Amino acid sequence: MLEIRQAAAGYGREQVLRQVSFTAPAGEVTTLVGPNGCGKTTLLRAAAGQLPLWSGQILLEGRPLPDYSRKELAQAAAFMPQVRDVPAITVEALVCHGRFPYLGFSRRLRPEDRRAVEGAMEAVGVAQWARRDLRELSGGQRQRVYLAMALAQDTRLILLDEPSTYLDPGRQFELLELIAGLKGRGKTVVMVLHDLAHALRYSGQIVLMDGGRAVQCGPPEQLLSSGALERVFGVRIGRAGENFYVAPAAGV
Ligand code: ADP
Repeated sequence: MLEIRQAAAGYGREQVLRQVSFTAPAGEVTTLVGPNGCGKTTLLRAAAGQLPLWSGQILLEGRPLPDYSRKELAQAAAFMPQVRDVPAITVEALVCHGRFPYLGFSRRLRPEDRRAVEGAMEAVGVAQWARRDLRELSGGQRQRVYLAMALAQDTRLILLDEPSTYLDPGRQFELLELIAGLKGRGKTVVMVLHDLAHALRYSGQIVLMDGGRAVQCGPPEQLLSSGALERVFGVRIGRAGENFYVAPAAGV
């Protein structure tokens, strides 16, 4: 479980997060949505321990983030940022990086680390590229490799910043199904999604952010019926069975 309590943070003197509070329960997918620049990535970075808070608190499994050592935090939370380097490395070697928080000084992988790496590669369907150079893969294929690395890290909390970017629609659904399946393993998933229709379909909880604040938080149905999503994004949202569609607001 991840608890954000009255979190304030920013860059230099510019405040971005303004007293953000919400709880991401274990075994649930929580999705952050909001207009560009509202602070979604900043919040994920703070939750990953990469950006100190100005005030407020972030608790992971009931323990404040600053109380974690680097190694403890790496064993507790995996972060898949949006912008990543593309190093000259094989797929398998990159996924092995997910095990580093568990290794001793020699960084030698134990049999259980090998199993975790293979399991993660199988789970996201990248095992067939194990020996390929990461640079030879498409953006979407690479995205899945980075997700495999995050899974190999075997953490309770997984933070994902726009994981479906670069994927074609079919692969987007595949990846989101996979992420939604993680909740069955008791993981706490917090992700940023641009696509409101996907957010509505695949989240247990949506946190709607605007201007550095969490303006509403609740199950998808609640955010939809309150009209808050339509208001903040200036769109109209319709529903067709399990699926949602986003259309221009009347008069646009
Ligand atoms: P979102 O993810 O919702 O699009 P961000 O959290 O990326 O929003 O950005 C929120 C605000 O913080 C924006 O005004 C952005 O320009 C600013 N910002 C983001 N990263 C930095 C940074 N490294 N240094 C200074 N300002 C930043």
